[in-house]
Amino acid sequence: MGSLASYSSFSSFSSLLLFFSLLLSSLVNGRNTSDPSITPIKHDLYHSSEALITEIKALVGRNPERLSMKAIKTGNKGYNAEVLVVTYGHASKNTNDSSKFRILLSFGQHGRELITSEVAFRLLSILSGEKSTPKIDPNSLNRTLEKLVIKVVPMENLNGRRLVEAGDLCERRNGRGVDLNRNWSVDWGKKEKDYDPYEENPGLAPFSEPETQIMRKISKSFNPHIWVNVHSGMEALFMPYDHRNTTPDGSTSDKMKIMLKDLNRLHCHERCSIGSGGASVGYLAHGTATDYMYDVVKVPMAFTFEIYGDGEASSKDCFRMFNPIDQPTFNRVINDWCAAFLTIFHKGPQHLGFHSGSSVTNLHEWISIDEYLDGYLMERSSRYGKKTQVLELGMQEIRTYFRLFLLSSVLLLFMFCSRISKTNYRQVVSGIPF
Ligand SMILES: [Zn+2]
Repeated sequence: MGSLASYSSFSSFSSLLLFFSLLLSSLVNGRNTSDPSITPIKHDLYHSSEALITEIKALVGRNPERLSMKAIKTGNKGYNAEVLVVTYGHASKNTNDSSKFRILLSFGQHGRELITSEVAFRLLSILSGEKSTPKIDPNSLNRTLEKLVIKVVPMENLNGRRLVEAGDLCERRNGRGVDLNRNWSVDWGKKEKDYDPYEENPGLAPFSEPETQIMRKISKSFNPHIWVNVHSGMEALFMPYDHRNTTPDGSTSDKMKIMLKDLNRLHCHERCSIGSGGASVGYLAHGTATDYMYDVVKVPMAFTFEIYGDGEASSKDCFRMFNPIDQPTFNRVINDWCAAFLTIFHKGPQHLGFHSGSSVTNLHEWISIDEYLDGYLMERSSRYGKKTQVLELGMQEIRTYFRLFLLSSVLLLFMFCSRISKTNYRQVVSGIPF
């Protein structure tokens, strides 16, 4: 009897617990989905992040002669991130990546922009040869692709994306609340008057976030000719700078403008805003990936594309604001932007005067200590494989120690010199007779 009574009280206690936890989870996760004016994720159109990873792995598995894949993991202070990178390289086993034209594309840097990762998946399917593109002759596409190595990051912010899938439909930041497009070092941490930490939190320091560290590592080792950071929320084609309302001077800047005008005419129905991110979007953005790619990695063509936005959606209705919610628009966006990337693959090397084996731009001759150390550590980390994480995370500390070392060397030298001069002086003084 006694045991039955205690069992029944235990059972009612656990039902109570279950009730409260369900209530809590519906309050936390369902705050967007329970409101009828908020559009939920359209699961009939969009893959879940897990399904997308499974599909991409299967695609690469079926097409090993064209595609390869790597998952890069790192973490700090108990926060771990993993970034999947798919590389397209036609017959890449026989040729060297460095002699080819290199393109780096990142999708899904903001959690709520699901449509961008769907474009990535379709683009990879086209690159694999499993999907064809209307209006493009497969032979001429193959000739274009032969000269290229393309790295695609289909879902840069997997942790943030998982928060969106759990019901936080407006989340754009990573799994610990940092905006991955404000965490880079160019003009990092500057805040505009309308700064909102729920949107643009830049993190505790430049490159504080594992996802940004991984992307920096990829960009520096791959050294792309073209970088595109793919977002949604509006229709726009941006070039540097995001942190100023001007575009850079020089001929590559003009080439970027020509490329963006072509893309707007051919694939954006002339609807896209064009120009520097800072001048066109209506606000300046500090610490962005594209400004870093242009200024520090010296990528000759660095872009941010905004591929879709619903200006009619209310500011709380984030899924609808950032993603198409009906099949025809979903298909139209994917087809238009896959075609835009194929245009970039075709015209990019031409615009930059690339011939196999040639270098495109004179890379900066003078590099800062920070950049030197970054490069040095990157080389070492690739040589020692497993030590990557430790070295990436220890970079800040090593820099600090290096500066301290320099400072103490200067101090020691100063003390040494002053000691010599004192000794000499004493010798002179001791020569005086008294
Ligand atoms: Zn975005």
